Amino acid sequence: MENNKFLIIFIDALRFDYLQKMPRLKKTIKQARYGKTTVELGFASRMGAFFTGRKPVEHGFFTLFYCTKNSDFKWIKAFIPFVKMLSSFKPLEKLLKYITFALMNLASFVKGHHYFFYLKGAPLDLLPFIEIVIKKHYCEKGAFPVPTLFDAFRKKKLKFHFYMWPFYLTNKKVHVELPVSKFNSDQHRLRRFKKILKKDGDVFFAQFFNLDTAGHAFGIKSKQLQEEIKFTDKLIDDLKNDFWSKHPGGNILIWTDHGMTPIKKILNVQKKIDKMKLVPIKDYLYFIDATMVRVWPKNKKAEKVILKELRKTNLVELTPALRKKYDIDYSNEKYGKIIFQAPSGTLLFPNFFECHHSPKAMHGYFPETPTEKGAYVLISPKYSPGYQEKKTRDLYKLVLDIFDVDY
Ligand SMILES: [Zn+2]
Repeated sequence: MENNKFLIIFIDALRFDYLQKMPRLKKTIKQARYGKTTVELGFASRMGAFFTGRKPVEHGFFTLFYCTKNSDFKWIKAFIPFVKMLSSFKPLEKLLKYITFALMNLASFVKGHHYFFYLKGAPLDLLPFIEIVIKKHYCEKGAFPVPTLFDAFRKKKLKFHFYMWPFYLTNKKVHVELPVSKFNSDQHRLRRFKKILKKDGDVFFAQFFNLDTAGHAFGIKSKQLQEEIKFTDKLIDDLKNDFWSKHPGGNILIWTDHGMTPIKKILNVQKKIDKMKLVPIKDYLYFIDATMVRVWPKNKKAEKVILKELRKTNLVELTPALRKKYDIDYSNEKYGKIIFQAPSGTLLFPNFFECHHSPKAMHGYFPETPTEKGAYVLISPKYSPGYQEKKTRDLYKLVLDIFDVDY
């Protein structure tokens, strides 16, 4: 029995009811502690919850991006007129956008930031004001303003392997794969991670995201998603067998940070913003996530006009009381002075992430939404089998308890 070895498999968008369609995992569940996970509000808050065991207001991560006049990407402003001029020749538009983001990511990487992004729907003029929240990768020192799971592993002198494509990090090194579509599949990640599992180490962490991609693109009931569920079932089984053949009885956690909700209504909030008689950047900065619109007004008039227009929609205004309720009552306006959240099933489209193909399903809704919940399965000699619903941040404690580390 190797109680000090741990395999953590993060399956993006593993909805609890998918487990019913995963015969191999269902068999494993008989010896596991498992259940639904309740998520936090916000796109980045759930990862923060797992890695720090804390509420979003404490670990500091709410969404993946925000707007500020002090962005690291201020320098891109000089290139924008040139990019816009060339983009008027339509066949070049996509390529130019891609090159712009490649430059931004490269500059960020050179600075030691380990997060890649591509906001293909963001207006070019706003790029010099956009800032990323994740700078250090989740397993690195200083990733969050509070201690993390990986800080605890370091303290215990545990050797870890952390694979979140295209990044692969260990206690000592950062490796990066070329972020091209050829390598962007769980099939590739499985092959790579199977090799990593053969290495010497204590904690092995990997992320897989075909379920998320297929859920967004084709919807919950699609044939494509059903096939990915089957594939993911085999993938988990394959990794479990490899891990146990090297570390018999080692601990395994399978978890996710959200579910997936079918889209029922599409709201073009960009169009509404365009119609307001205000000038973007001069009067306000803004960011449209798939389920949230956030605004940083620069004057009282702009604030009034924007609030009035957004209040006419079916979006929910995140008032101070609601921000407190969902633990996002930050003392500053970093994530937006004005924030409106989409109710379950409403998609803001186009948004800064996607402007070409409207997704069939989305996540990022209120935690009460049943389809927003995720799943976890924990096989460990330390825990008796059985169903138990958990908050994402409780998973942190479950992991640390196995290693007898304080939190
Ligand atoms: Zn997603």
